[in-house]
Amino acid sequence: MTVPTTPDLEPVDHFRDRARHWLANNLAPAPPNQHGEADKSEASWQRAKQVQRVLYDGGFAGICFPREYGGLGLTPEHQRAFSEESRAYEMPLALNIPTLTICAATILDTGSETQKRTHLPAVLRGEELLVQFLSEPRGGSDLAGLTTRAERRGDTWVLNGAKIWSSGAYAADYGLCLARTDWKVPKHAGLTMFLVPVRAPGVTVARITQVDGSREFCQEFFDDVVLPDDAVLGEVNGGWETAKRQLLHERSAVGGASPYASGAQAHSGRDVSGLAELARRTGQWHDPRVREDIGEARALNMVHDQLITRVTGGIAAGALDPAAGSMVRLFSARNSWLQADMAVRIAGSAAATGSGADDAGTGQAGQDYLMRQAWSLAGGSTEMARNIISERVLGMPREAAADRDLPFDQVECGR
Ligand SMILES: Cc1cc2nc3c(=O)[nH]c(=O)nc-3n(C[C@H](O)[C@H](O)[C@H](O)COP(=O)(O)OP(=O)(O)OC[C@H]3O[C@@H](n4cnc5c(N)ncnc54)[C@H](O)[C@@H]3O)c2cc1C
Repeated sequence: MTVPTTPDLEPVDHFRDRARHWLANNLAPAPPNQHGEADKSEASWQRAKQVQRVLYDGGFAGICFPREYGGLGLTPEHQRAFSEESRAYEMPLALNIPTLTICAATILDTGSETQKRTHLPAVLRGEELLVQFLSEPRGGSDLAGLTTRAERRGDTWVLNGAKIWSSGAYAADYGLCLARTDWKVPKHAGLTMFLVPVRAPGVTVARITQVDGSREFCQEFFDDVVLPDDAVLGEVNGGWETAKRQLLHERSAVGGASPYASGAQAHSGRDVSGLAELARRTGQWHDPRVREDIGEARALNMVHDQLITRVTGGIAAGALDPAAGSMVRLFSARNSWLQADMAVRIAGSAAATGSGADDAGTGQAGQDYLMRQAWSLAGGSTEMARNIISERVLGMPREAAADRDLPFDQVECGR
């Protein structure tokens, strides 16, 4: 991933010192469980937007976004330094995925000048939230096989169909929505990406209650939603190119490697302080088995960090295909699983009987375990990550696909 920079860069050490001083004077300490699953209540969205505005006003928002769109035009090393320094402070982590690291990054790569100047500064000021409208009820892995359609009517587009599993759509302002605009060409060639206002007439957002009680996921229905021409992100029928950039940013973000985050990533299998605290509170700090688990977690986190450095460096230098981001994404899922399992081992049966808010944190371990499987699906499934690594990084033969070259209106897909 190429991050635009300006020629006169502040040295990273100088930037780090400045950030450390500014953070201590301007931000509150991190609330409890900030580095666990991000809280997505209405109040927490508002708070995240406020904190993002504080970062913006203080000159620390959008570290790797270009200056002309409201960012600082600095490098991933500056971003890493800021993330390390800001871990102890309240950060707008809820805005990281998908708003900043996936959607805004995609607009930066593929948007028109007007789209970039309209949306990116608004996102960096904490005024605009974005969401991904990609997955559909009939499946998310075969993204190019989607059936939400946009038809040309006069000077406008008319959108019909349904999307699902959209994280945080109920709080968002715009969705990046991939739709079919030509049915007579093979599936990848007839798609267009649109920037859809979530509150436009004809858009219905329904929240989905998950097994852990959270209501972050949504399903959307589009009924004759009228969109202007300038809602197209990228080229008409070139939506797969835009989607590929988006998926690249998604894999990087979910793997914890995005340079576009505001502070440390929202889900961090990369911090053992939660496991250590759980061990202390349950009186198992000196148990050799528990210490071994925490040591293993720490080692995996170090491997994860080094994998990020190696893969992002390799991609930036052109030594690795951008698809190599899937290696970080795959490792991240495995690491999150292992650490969710470890937390349940430490909490024991109390993981099932405790509440999310209990003093020892055992109930939280149980709650987090319920979300464990999500890490093998979010940002594309681990099986799809393995396919990408084998085909595009290792150069192994492509998976057979009977529909790849057929006009989409001839594909059997249960429409
Ligand atoms: C936490 C989280 C957040 C998400 N946020 C969003 C969001 O904001 N917006 C959005 O659009 N979507 C979102 N998703 C949806 C996510 O992108 C999909 O879950 C994912 O792409 C898989 O699609 P699916 O669930 O429909 O499974 P399916 O595609 O139906 O797949 C089912 C199973 O079959 C396997 N499989 C399918 N095809 C193959 C193949 N060719 N080879 C091998 N195995 C295969 C898959 O790996 C999976 O295990 C989110 C999901 C999660 C868990």
